[in-house]
Parts: sequence; C-alpha cells; structure tokens
Amino acid sequence: MLQEFLKPRTVAEAVKFHDANPDYFYIAGGSEILARGYPAVPEKISGLIDISGLGLNRIVLEEKALRIDPIVTIQELADSPETGKPHFAILREAALNVSNRNVRNRATVGGNIAACKSCSDIIPPLLVMEAELDVAFTCGKRALVPILEYVIRGEKDLITAIRVPERENFFMAIRRYTRTANDLALVNVCLGLRLLDGKIKDARLAMGGVAATVMRMPEAEQFLTGKELAGRISDLAPALRACVEKTVHPLDDHRGKAWFKKELAGGLVVEALYLAAGKGGIL
Ligand SMILES: Cc1cc2nc3c(=O)[nH]c(=O)nc-3n(C[C@H](O)[C@H](O)[C@H](O)COP(=O)(O)OP(=O)(O)OC[C@H]3O[C@@H](n4cnc5c(N)ncnc54)[C@H](O)[C@@H]3O)c2cc1C
Repeated sequence: MLQEFLKPRTVAEAVKFHDANPDYFYIAGGSEILARGYPAVPEKISGLIDISGLGLNRIVLEEKALRIDPIVTIQELADSPETGKPHFAILREAALNVSNRNVRNRATVGGNIAACKSCSDIIPPLLVMEAELDVAFTCGKRALVPILEYVIRGEKDLITAIRVPERENFFMAIRRYTRTANDLALVNVCLGLRLLDGKIKDARLAMGGVAATVMRMPEAEQFLTGKELAGRISDLAPALRACVEKTVHPLDDHRGKAWFKKELAGGLVVEALYLAAGKGGIL
C-alpha cells in the first residue's frame, strides 16, 4: 500500500530519496503506474518519487544531436518543431503511433523507455539511431549509457536526458501491425539504412513484440549490409524474410499467436526495406 509520496526538487534529491528507499518507484506521467499498476501491482508500491517537477521537460537541438528531456510527453515530442526536421522526423512518426492523444498527453518519453515494454513505439527508432541516455545512478554517479544497454539490463536508474545523434545519408522506416489504432502493436519494426551509390553501407534493425524487450536484429543487419538495392529488393525479400523469421521467438498472448507474429515480423521488415529505400531515392 502506498505510504509515502516524495516530491524532490533536484535530480540529486530524487536520487538520494531512491538510494534511501530502493523499493520506491520514480513516477513521471503515471500512465503505467497509475493505469496498470506497472511495474508492481499498486498494493505492492509502498512509495513513489515524483520526478515531474525536476524541470526536465525540454527538447533542445544541440550540435549534431537532439537532446530530449525525460519528462517531455509523447505528444510534445510529436508537436516539437525539432521532430519536424528530416533528421528526427522518425521520432514524430513513432510518437504519433502511440495510442491516442489522451495517453500521449500523460505518457513521457523517459517513462516509455524505463517501462521498457516489448512493443514500445518509442524505443525502436532510438535503438536504430543509437541514442544514449544520461543516467543518474543511486550511488550518485552520472553516466551516458547506450539505450540498448539500459533496455537489455532492465535498468531502473533515473534517466535525465536522451541524446539522439544526427546521422547523414541515413534513411529510416517504421512499420507496425495493431488490431486497432488505439492498441499496442503486435509487432513493430524500425529499419535504418545508410546508403551510398544504391548500396547499403550500414543497416540497423530494431523490432518490438518478438521478445520480452525491443531487440536489435544483428543477423538481419548483417544480411542487408553491402547489398545492392536498385532493382534488387524483390530478389532480396525472401531471404531477408526467412532470416528474420528464423531469429525471432515471439510468445502466444491475447494479442496474437506466435506463428502469426513471426510471419508478421518477416513481412513488416520487407515493407520497411521498400519504404527506407524509397526515402533514399532508390525506388
Ligand atoms: C492505455 C495505454 C495505451 C498505451 N499505448 C501505447 C502505445 O501504443 N505505444 C507505446 O509505445 N506505449 C504505449 N503505452 C505505454 C506508454 O507510452 C507508457 O506508459 C508511458 O510512456 C510511460 O510514461 P509515464 O511517464 O506515464 O511513466 P510512469 O507510469 O510514470 O512510469 C513508468 C515506469 O517508468 C519509470 N520511470 C518513469 N520515468 C523515469 C525516468 N525518467 N527514469 C527512470 N525511470 C522512470 C517508473 O518508475 C515506472 O517504472 C500505453 C499506455 C497506456 C496506459
């Protein structure tokens, strides 16, 4: 049962509260904690540390990177002029895929990363863009942590900023499948390609809904790297699809059967390949 609700005024104070009360949870927009009781059933949450008053709610274009503060809501991310710019437009698309405006007005970017849902719409493009997180650890240390590390380890330390590097000649596409526009995706895909003279110099693929957390897909990335795309995508598609379907192991759940998600995964990656190639002027 909730016994204490703390409202720190600085990051240092927030971290100190957490250090003194390791069982307490940070709360930002509260859309997970209040709506679903995640990550613990509400009766088991004994204390909350409200980080909404820390002033971490800006989006700033820095040199060659976008800094997103963790308390920025998903709707603010979608509305920001910075995500209207080509380098970061994929973040606007990802944000607008999240549920509906009511949810997006509460849900924060930091909360979405920390909640680390298998089908997060926000984590895949951040993985593909190799974003880094500024993390304030309970020991008082601060460090830049690759988002992949934070997600895989299921870390719970305080995210104080998200840094997204700007990339040249990098073309990204998102594909997802949902039962309704309001629902979480069954499977979602974000593909990024660095293209040079019609060839893939570098490929990065992240997928949600196929494991406990969003994953990078190194086998498919390796398969794509070095491939010629112009006039060749339909030749590549069957092998790419097979490679993806071989490497994902989704679970049966109320949203869909494992075999269905596996087939979706392969198909969505092929669609994303066409889309990214189109953005790169190849089609
Ligand atoms: C009805 C509904 C529909 C949804 N649909 C989608 C969807 O389509 N796509 C999608 O991607 N997501 C979806 N979500 C998930 C939603 O995006 C996340 O719940 C939201 O972003 C979490 O942010 P929050 O600020 O509300 O987190 P909170 O509920 O405040 O916290 C969630 C977790 O993150 C931790 N936390 C919060 N902020 C930080 C931080 N800065 N540092 C470290 N830990 C932190 C908390 O301790 C807690 O464990 C949906 C949620 C709901 C309720």
